[in-house]
Amino acid sequence: MDIPRSTIKNPSKVEEAQPVWSACLDLIKESVNSQSFKTWFEPIKPLNLSGGRLTLEVPSQFFYDWLEEHYYGLINNIITRMLGNDARLEYSVQTEEPSVELDYEHGLVDIRSKERGALPPQPDTFRIGGLSQTNRHRNHVEDKGFVSFLNPRYTFDNFIKGDSNQLARAAASAVANNPGGTSFNPLVIYGGTGLGKTHLIQAIGNFALSNGKAKRIIYISSEKFTVEFVDAIQNDRIRDFSNFYRSMDILIVDDIQFFSGKEKTQDNFFHTFNELHQIGNQIILSSDRSPKELKGLDDRLLSRFQWGLTSDIQPPDLETRIAILRKKSEDDGIDLPQDVIECIATNVTSNIRELEGCLISLLAKASLEGREINVDLARDVLKVVVGDIRTPITIEEIQRVVCDYFNIPDDLIRAKTRRQEVVNARQIAMYIAKELTNSSLKTIGLHFGGRDHSTVIHAYQSVEDQMKLDQKYQANVLQIRRKLDLLGRS
Ligand code: ADP
Ligand code: MG
Repeated sequence: MDIPRSTIKNPSKVEEAQPVWSACLDLIKESVNSQSFKTWFEPIKPLNLSGGRLTLEVPSQFFYDWLEEHYYGLINNIITRMLGNDARLEYSVQTEEPSVELDYEHGLVDIRSKERGALPPQPDTFRIGGLSQTNRHRNHVEDKGFVSFLNPRYTFDNFIKGDSNQLARAAASAVANNPGGTSFNPLVIYGGTGLGKTHLIQAIGNFALSNGKAKRIIYISSEKFTVEFVDAIQNDRIRDFSNFYRSMDILIVDDIQFFSGKEKTQDNFFHTFNELHQIGNQIILSSDRSPKELKGLDDRLLSRFQWGLTSDIQPPDLETRIAILRKKSEDDGIDLPQDVIECIATNVTSNIRELEGCLISLLAKASLEGREINVDLARDVLKVVVGDIRTPITIEEIQRVVCDYFNIPDDLIRAKTRRQEVVNARQIAMYIAKELTNSSLKTIGLHFGGRDHSTVIHAYQSVEDQMKLDQKYQANVLQIRRKLDLLGRS
């Protein structure tokens, strides 16, 4: 049996490395604050200790750069204290794209080390500058040694639903439950960058694999498919190449816009598509634009897409952005204040990858500068990321602007008075609070002298009705909203 790459690290070496690294961590803990420790040191895994050389695994290249830049001295110092002057430290970055050889002849992907049959396998380590990179990937591995190249991080469970992705997600879920058995074949998901296409199409594969809906699933980008195709031609292995992809239960090809202009690759893919479709196997594709706008793609291929379902993913709305940030921070074990979440979600509007990037920068800045995570810090990060930033409007600000507009004292709006002009202002402020903030009816009520949520609903409806009936009234409300809009810009 082949050994899955995820077990490739030698257990005895890990056992040696573990206590040494634990002792190092104890010392590091004394030197850095707890937020930094959690962010930068807890995720490190000791991989190996031999001949005074300690190998640590870090989650990403970014992580490595950060450690080198900010903690080089500290870590080196501590390692030397633990292991002596000859100690050497090496990092290994977890990679998502494993470099494994495809063994087309046997329809398998060879997941052993390059020296076939050499067991137990050693990590094939290569050096990039001062950094050694181990090709230890975290994909699902079947016992026959077949690798799907799916990243297990991408699941339906952690894909947040929203209006922007509802249809795509529902179709994906139907396909995952019954690959090849729905009319969504092919399933084509398209949309702008960073909106979750890769996440969603891989979630289908992961679900189908772990629920036994399909066995032979492969995820590949169209670029990689092209490179392999060219390679196969050069090595006279085109038949093996084609047979391999045509033997899949589910074929997932990401970013098919890169097929554009590559006629020979497209031709091969076209035949693969037809064969799979004919036997009722599932094809899943993604693209950064709608098939109609895909230039340089063969019409024969484009017309095939209409056999199945094409669905787009739109940029997420505010609520979805908030939900995503909340989930990501929870997953990282960080308790982000609501106003910080809202501040980021209000400003980063078009791209979920950027939303995640902001969160990482925020944590990095907090840890590096030893600052508390609050709106001020979020604004500092956002200024760099998005430039012109907006701050979410608070209910207090709305009250202030409304009272100012109607020329009534601030505190009256929260008081019990039923004077007509105050009731009027209060209702409008409640209406705008519902429209512009993410606060619940209950919260809004509490800000208005502890009024009940049904009072807020009543106010909301009453303002809506009056706006329809009375143009002057409507103009007032819009004018106030414009003032608040300007306030949101800093
Ligand atoms: P695309 O392939 O469309 O460029 P990705 O699938 O790579 O985008 O998504 C970018 C990042 O945003 C990924 O880390 C992904 O997990 C995350 N992401 C995208 N959509 C969602 C969502 N609906 N819920 C949670 N995370 C998401
Ligand atoms: Mg993608």
